[in-house]
Amino acid sequence: SNGSSPEYSWSFDDKKPVRASKAQRQILEIPVDQIRRPLARTRSNNQAKVKALMESIERIGLQEPIDVLEVEGQYYGFSGCHRYEAHQRLGKPTILCRVRKANKATLKMHMM
Ligand code: ADP
Repeated sequence: SNGSSPEYSWSFDDKKPVRASKAQRQILEIPVDQIRRPLARTRSNNQAKVKALMESIERIGLQEPIDVLEVEGQYYGFSGCHRYEAHQRLGKPTILCRVRKANKATLKMHMM
């Protein structure tokens, strides 16, 4: 036998795992005050880290965008907390984000 069966007669290429492609993740400058951070009140940042990031961002800019979800036209951030606070404290109007569109179920999972 060559190992192929009727059930699995499609090519290997068709069986590549499906995952969010880069095309689904847009890099956008988003106003800092338009990003909701539902868990920000329950998690506090390392202030020494925030200070160091503020200095670095002032010097060389944000080198790695923060990840945000876009759900029904609203942006939500759950990570990148130190970079976000550094931008807030520097008074930056916008922050560079990697945006992934998601549904309400995905948002609920992030809230847990
Ligand atoms: P955060 O809560 O923002 O994710 P971390 O300390 O866990 O904070 O990670 C800081 C991240 O910020 C690192 O991934 C680092 O690569 C990234 N970064 C982006 N821009 C800068 C910068 N200008 N200076 C230092 N780190 C930066």
